[in-house]
Amino acid sequence: MPLQTPRPQPIIAIHGGAGTLSRSHISPEQEALYHGALGDILLAAQQMLAEGGSALDAVSLAVDGLEDCPLFNAGHGAVFTHDATHELDAAIMDGASLRAGAVACVSRVRRPLRAARAVMEHSEHVLLVAAGAEAFAKSCGLEMVEPDYFSTPSRRAQLEKALASDATLLDHDASALVFAQRSTGQAPLDEDRKLGTVGAVALDAHGNLAAATSTGGMTNKRVGRVGDTPLIGAGTYADNRTAAISCTGTGEMFIRTLTAYDICARMAYAGQSLDAAAQTVVMQVLPTIKGRGGLIAVDAQGNLSMPFNTEGMYRGYARVGEAVQTVIFR
Ligand code: ASP
Repeated sequence: MPLQTPRPQPIIAIHGGAGTLSRSHISPEQEALYHGALGDILLAAQQMLAEGGSALDAVSLAVDGLEDCPLFNAGHGAVFTHDATHELDAAIMDGASLRAGAVACVSRVRRPLRAARAVMEHSEHVLLVAAGAEAFAKSCGLEMVEPDYFSTPSRRAQLEKALASDATLLDHDASALVFAQRSTGQAPLDEDRKLGTVGAVALDAHGNLAAATSTGGMTNKRVGRVGDTPLIGAGTYADNRTAAISCTGTGEMFIRTLTAYDICARMAYAGQSLDAAAQTVVMQVLPTIKGRGGLIAVDAQGNLSMPFNTEGMYRGYARVGEAVQTVIFR
């Protein structure tokens, strides 16, 4: 009888965006807020996986929690567009079936990730945008809100600073997407320079992978702009044969390098390990076009990789049977 290799323990990993450090400005209490929020969300998802829940349900639960938390740029607390509106993007993918769903430029769906999942499960499409996506979400019974539900005073202050620095942004310098001004230092990562998408990836007890990502996009973005988050293969991807990936960063560069899919392709075609593929993409491929950010990834063997080329990334993971880990800085 051939020896059966034991199934790896289920694992969930989450991120709350990557960016620049303001470590010298923050108090241990402020840092603790972020660790607490990430830790609570991980604990709930870990329990779900421990009880035999699916990777798809675990990433949905985790992103629900991250969207509801105003500390992160997704759902309530999302950033503003140039016109002081909100346009949110989200995507989910099931590694077992390669089914995927996404929404872009929605401003009335309380939980964009649930709308993405509804597109996957209740339509024959992959990506719905704007008013059409909102009408579909409503027809599925999802909770709708007024657009100002997403607004917070600190995000409005960020927009005002970004508008004031428009001269820099119009320099056609890609790196100017990262705002030059310092924040008041309320958060561990400089809120003005943070790329604050949220995401989750998971492996469940049945060996299935899933990935989910949700974002308000980038402060001061043009109305109608779509980032990498809802584009399957760019910011979000899952395939049981390789890995589940959720990205955060300067979306345009992640779209141009098809970041999430590139990791799976390297594993499938070049036989690279998850970590080798993820490190190469984040530390070598993205920087060639000034792409900044990071990603979280798990594979079907339960390996985990969380590389980023910024100074920090809100992140954490929980393996069933082990303590929850949360990290912000390097
Ligand atoms: N990748 C997101 C976007 O470009 C932004 C982020 O990660 O914060 O919309």
